[in-house]
Amino acid sequence: MSTVCAQCQVELRQRDVRLRYLGVEFTVGLPACPVCGQVYISEEVAHGRMREVEEMLESK
Ligand SMILES: [Zn+2]
Repeated sequence: MSTVCAQCQVELRQRDVRLRYLGVEFTVGLPACPVCGQVYISEEVAHGRMREVEEMLESK
């Protein structure tokens, strides 16, 4: 199962992407297009990381 960019029709590569949520920056490995740079974020992954950030903030 390989995912391709909807625009470029090239295979996506895993890339470290910096996200910001609730003022906290974190890095997630996400599939991204090597040509146009479009990041294909999986909702599951995004929600998982956001929950981690929320828990991190609560424990402060
Ligand atoms: Zn692309």
